[in-house]
Amino acid sequence: MKIAIVGAGIVGVTTAYELASDGHEVTVFEQRSAVAEEASFATAGLLAPHLPSPWALPGFGPRLRLMGAHATMRLAGGISRANVGWLLRWRRAARAGSAPAATVERLAQYSQARLKAIASQHELDFEATDGRLVLLRTEEDRARLEPTLQVLRDCGVGLREISAEVARQIEPGLSPEAPLAGVIHLPDAGAGNSRLFAQLLRHGIQAAPGQQDSGVQFAFNTRVERILATPTGVALQGEPDVRRFDAVVLCAGTASAALLAGLGLRLPMVAVHGYSVSAPLREATHAPRASVVDAAQQVAITRLGQRVRIAGGAELGGAVAEHHAPTLQRLYRTLNDWFPGGAQLSSGLQIWRGARPLLPDGAPVVGDSGIPGLWLNIGHGAGGWALACGCARAVADQIAGREPEVSLDGLGWSRF
Ligand SMILES: Cc1cc2nc3c(=O)[nH]c(=O)nc-3n(C[C@H](O)[C@H](O)[C@H](O)COP(=O)(O)OP(=O)(O)OC[C@H]3O[C@@H](n4cnc5c(N)ncnc54)[C@H](O)[C@@H]3O)c2cc1C
Repeated sequence: MKIAIVGAGIVGVTTAYELASDGHEVTVFEQRSAVAEEASFATAGLLAPHLPSPWALPGFGPRLRLMGAHATMRLAGGISRANVGWLLRWRRAARAGSAPAATVERLAQYSQARLKAIASQHELDFEATDGRLVLLRTEEDRARLEPTLQVLRDCGVGLREISAEVARQIEPGLSPEAPLAGVIHLPDAGAGNSRLFAQLLRHGIQAAPGQQDSGVQFAFNTRVERILATPTGVALQGEPDVRRFDAVVLCAGTASAALLAGLGLRLPMVAVHGYSVSAPLREATHAPRASVVDAAQQVAITRLGQRVRIAGGAELGGAVAEHHAPTLQRLYRTLNDWFPGGAQLSSGLQIWRGARPLLPDGAPVVGDSGIPGLWLNIGHGAGGWALACGCARAVADQIAGREPEVSLDGLGWSRF
């Protein structure tokens, strides 16, 4: 089949890989000049398990608080009615425990297995690490994490509660003065550089110049203005000529809702912004070896090659991309609490503000759109990197008329 993909973030690139592997003729349309320039640019790098990641799903992690010194989400001004509606739905899902947690967690596990297979087959070195510590500052943190741990156990994820001493054997850089009330060790957790993975995969699958019939065509600097449903298939508008395809897979991240609105489909997706700071290693023995998550602060600290990345924060609204200094200070403080002296914070920093494309139940939409020929792989929220390879394989299977190997129950468009 002749298939178009809209968006070359981590989701679009992995989808292109799987569809090309199935023998389809694939073209990826991307408004930017390279892959992974938007939400996939500088993620915390966390792969499965997904549930203990910051902002994974409603009902897991700290309560949604919008006001005061302990606010977990900042209202960045310019809140729309749609944002208010989204907040109410997220809160309702948290109270009702209605997020499809086990399905998403199993999808993350499947995705990690698929990612490892792809990386090993093509020898992709994407600064991967194994193992994660979830750091608990208080007994209250531990109690709050219990529902997450229960879902992980039910899904067969390996985990154990360890002492501070054992934690320091696993992560020798952990400060002896760190405020530790408990530690959960996730030995099979993964992490890695999402942008680097997307870049390496793109180079592996891109068609050679002038070759039309093998490999994936990337149309960079090409913005898709509209998706058109026509009696003869799906068409894309954005270039001088409207192009027709047998199928289109929408992977446009936070821009997906606007493209779908043009077709009369309403999706309650918002952009919840967060930050990451990538800093050069200062003293390797004081830095993390792999990834850690501060459960109370909802901050991840990840080793990526010769750098340390600290990520967290949640902002709703505010189209202006001004950096919020107190949130950045919280990231620095959290790093300093756990790994003082591990990273060089005086120069060579990369500070990034990126958007999580979040639906009110935290889970993505993967599958058909109800419009013949239009497929959706969108709304991955805080887990686009962790879920990308699995969702990509599942969509490719669905397009081929095969039952995916992993359950997508509750992740369809019809739930909205
Ligand atoms: C601070 C922070 C930390 C995070 N940490 C993690 C983590 O540790 N693990 C994890 O799994 N996830 C993490 N996430 C979430 C993750 O970043 C996203 O879920 C993921 O990147 C979404 O990927 P995507 O491909 O759907 O979107 P994007 O990467 O945004 O890709 C969409 C692409 O579509 C293109 N596009 C949009 N509209 C059009 C159009 N009209 N025409 C052509 N092209 C178009 C865009 O330019 C973009 O390149 C984090 C997010 C933030 C903000």
